[in-house]
Amino acid sequence: MFSKTAHKLGLSLRPLSNAAKFSSFSRPALNYEPLPGIGSLINCTEEEAMMREAARKFATTVIAPKVAQMDENEVIDPEVFKGLFEQGFMGIETPDKYNGTGASFTSAIMVIEELAKVDGSVSVACDVQNTLVNTVFKKYANEDLKQKFLPQLAESKVGSFCLSESGSGSDAFALKTTAEKKSDHWVINGGKMWITNSGEAEIFLVFANTDMSKGYKGITCFVLEKSMGVKILKKEKKLGIRASSTCSIDFDNIKVPLENVVGEVGKGYKIAIEILNEGRIGIAAQMLGIAQGAFDYTLPYLFQRKQFGTEIGNFQGMQFQYAQIAMEIEAARLLVYNAARLKEEGRPFIKEAAMAKLYGSQVAERATSRCVEWLGGVGFTRDFPVEKFYRDCKIGSIYEGTTNIQLQTIAKQVSALYK
Ligand SMILES: Cc1cc2nc3c(=O)[nH]c(=O)nc-3n(C[C@H](O)[C@H](O)[C@H](O)COP(=O)(O)OP(=O)(O)OC[C@H]3O[C@@H](n4cnc5c(N)ncnc54)[C@H](O)[C@@H]3O)c2cc1C
Repeated sequence: MFSKTAHKLGLSLRPLSNAAKFSSFSRPALNYEPLPGIGSLINCTEEEAMMREAARKFATTVIAPKVAQMDENEVIDPEVFKGLFEQGFMGIETPDKYNGTGASFTSAIMVIEELAKVDGSVSVACDVQNTLVNTVFKKYANEDLKQKFLPQLAESKVGSFCLSESGSGSDAFALKTTAEKKSDHWVINGGKMWITNSGEAEIFLVFANTDMSKGYKGITCFVLEKSMGVKILKKEKKLGIRASSTCSIDFDNIKVPLENVVGEVGKGYKIAIEILNEGRIGIAAQMLGIAQGAFDYTLPYLFQRKQFGTEIGNFQGMQFQYAQIAMEIEAARLLVYNAARLKEEGRPFIKEAAMAKLYGSQVAERATSRCVEWLGGVGFTRDFPVEKFYRDCKIGSIYEGTTNIQLQTIAKQVSALYK
């Protein structure tokens, strides 16, 4: 579909499947031994390099041919989900003993980035499963819940992270969903909105208040299964990441076993805060991938298309623009990988994660917008994926904390250093 207009115009835009080879991550291997613990941010372990390569291959061979159709149909092909599970991309950090891949956080970030270079929707599906859902189980659930749910999430079942409601977005702890304790179960009532992966999910992490009089200190995290009566309502029709399902959910007197509390009763707010802090690095990686994907797709065109007798990429006006964007993508990458490594090393990373997410979303907007312009008229058509990258990146300034919320977080951290 993407190539019809190109053919008409006598252009030879590369198929998307070759995009990865232009990535700035496809650099030659290091020819020296970096000092232990010291190295450029481009450094990675053999395992991380393998995960990244596997994700790149999966994205360019399995996902790429389906991207346009999935966007048009507003649904991720079930074969893609199947492939994500088979490749071990749905349980990247889940330890081997729970049938996961047992890889690093940075591996997860690399996979999310590689998927986003080809499709932002598949990328966020993988991101939510790994950085939000699996991580909540891994960090906060007791051993029984881990044993029950982590293998399912790594092997076959999609999960959702259900915090936002119609009345509570940025002010997440104003949520109204309630959990009432009975003698041998909880009863959940209320509803959620904007829930990623909820169209496909069978496992739901739901934040509900067990005692409204305690305010946010009543918020508790529960595991619900679809079979308990979780009703998926309206599926949103969106500007971008259209194939990713975003639905409202209804909980009408749902009985949940007492043992399905994740962590402690009343400590759900801590889980939500902590998990979103690190989840933001995943969204930053998604934004980075989208920016790089659009750039990789567009740049070769600049050296094919001629106007005024010369390749348009040779005009200084164009050179200055792509040099600027190349620099911004590189800077976004350094922020993403620095935040990921800080988190892995157990160092403070909240400010860096917020910066990576905020800057990543800004760079993705600028890069994709420029790419549309650089392609001229064809960039504005749906025959090429660049308009889709442009639409897909807008969500980066909204979910897992809007732009203003990231700025608020950064300001809080920075001001504490100077007050
Ligand atoms: C596609 C998509 C997928 C999503 N996936 C999930 C998911 O899987 N799970 C989930 O729980 N949620 C999810 N969300 C919800 C998302 O996290 C919220 O939309 C987001 O947090 C913003 O909340 P809101 O939409 O209510 O906007 P609001 O909070 O109403 O914000 C509206 C505007 O007001 C500004 N604003 C609000 N408060 C302040 C303030 N204190 N200072 C300055 N400005 C402020 C915001 O920056 C924004 O510009 C998703 C949303 C979308 C669109």
